Amino acid sequence: HSKMNYETFRKDFYIEPAELRDMTNDQVDLLRVELDGIKIRGVDCPKPIQKWTHCGLPVGCLEIIRKLKFDKPTSIQAQAIPAIMHGRDVIGVAKTGSGKTIAFLLPMFRHIKDQRPLEMGEGPMAIIMTPTRELATQIHRECKPFLKVLGLRAVCAYGGSPIKDQIADLKRGAEIIVCTPGRMIDLLCANSGRVTNLARVTYMVLDEADRMFDMGFEPQVMKIVNNVRPNRQTVLFSATFPRQMEALARKVLKKPLEITVGGRSVVCSDVEQIVEVREDATKFMRLLEILGQFYNDEDDDARVLIFVDRQEAADNLLRDLIRKGYVCQSLHGGKDQVDRDSTIADFKSGATNILIATSVAARGLDVKQLKLVVNYECPNHMEDYVHRVGRTGRAGNKGTAYTFITPTQERYAMDICKALKLVVKSGQERFAGSGFGGKGLERFDKDRDMVK
Ligand code: ADP
Ligand code: MG
Repeated sequence: HSKMNYETFRKDFYIEPAELRDMTNDQVDLLRVELDGIKIRGVDCPKPIQKWTHCGLPVGCLEIIRKLKFDKPTSIQAQAIPAIMHGRDVIGVAKTGSGKTIAFLLPMFRHIKDQRPLEMGEGPMAIIMTPTRELATQIHRECKPFLKVLGLRAVCAYGGSPIKDQIADLKRGAEIIVCTPGRMIDLLCANSGRVTNLARVTYMVLDEADRMFDMGFEPQVMKIVNNVRPNRQTVLFSATFPRQMEALARKVLKKPLEITVGGRSVVCSDVEQIVEVREDATKFMRLLEILGQFYNDEDDDARVLIFVDRQEAADNLLRDLIRKGYVCQSLHGGKDQVDRDSTIADFKSGATNILIATSVAARGLDVKQLKLVVNYECPNHMEDYVHRVGRTGRAGNKGTAYTFITPTQERYAMDICKALKLVVKSGQERFAGSGFGGKGLERFDKDRDMVK
């Protein structure tokens, strides 16, 4: 870095609006409680904004936001946007579906628009890293309506599809690159470094950081991070912020503000969560019952996502459901990208309404009409449970989640209880079925008492 001739750049654009200036500290505390319990670690955090007009967005963005019918900022957006606009490094932790993408995109646009335009051969000003192709594509799509009005370009780069198309895209020039870490490194190395470079990167996003580290991308992420100028602005967003990630965050972010919304990881209270204790042999019949009832109550457009543990299990269940006359598809790591893409596209368009998936394959899936999640096989830790159940109840829609747990899976029950507990207050949880006896039940009761 000492040999590089980096240009200076600005990162603080925030001017506190008059409406917020007069708020007392008590009023701000109260507002944070009302905004799903925003908690802050770190000093000098700006007050949360309440309206889009409060954050000094670049010209044209407000109109797009209005067209998208985003009436007001979500809780994480209300606090993270002014913090990032103020030039701070930010750790934003909020459940899936809470609008984290927009929280890092809008300040990014402001940041980029402040800089000297890209010249031929120059690399991007902003890098967004995310663990999967599906997530990268989703972020890229969410950028699109803004790019046009702002006159910016974004390239989406991920593994498992031909690198030459992505190279061509990059060579045409792009202010923003949305990528998976592995493919980003490939692109940086391609053609002995002539395809793209990090010299102009001043804004860096690590999205779904918990998943990124779950999936073992830390070495690739660090390699990229260490090659970006040290005084860049860095933001990290995640549904959870496990202890192990703190060390990494310290290496990557400078004096970050840690903004947490609604506890460390919670299921949205718009999801009704039902847990049933049952033997494997009774699961299929019960699933048919649930599906029958569901399509009786809901319109045909409603989507169902069924989780299993392994590829073979997905394909077996697929075969059984097709035999019963259900139109469905399966999604798992054993399928190639093209196959997975078309499966997701079919599920989004409603060509197939039932999808059987493994956790990893369905990561980040965002489909508004998804009304029912069935954990046909029980997730084995809380984060996975929260992630799976979080595929429904997106952006304020109602959803239902069933979880089947066998009597021998008692060890997983506590983690699910933990997740249920976090929404107990709103009275959404219900425990059905039988056989949840012995120690497990006792412990569950104790847990429940602790909550009250
Ligand atoms: P997360 O990354 O927190 O899981 P996303 O950024 O994917 O959540 O957002 C979930 C959904 O909410 C998306 O469909 C997005 O378009 C929508 N959304 C984002 N911000 C708002 C807002 N302020 N009002 C309404 N919907 C929003
Ligand atoms: Mg996200």
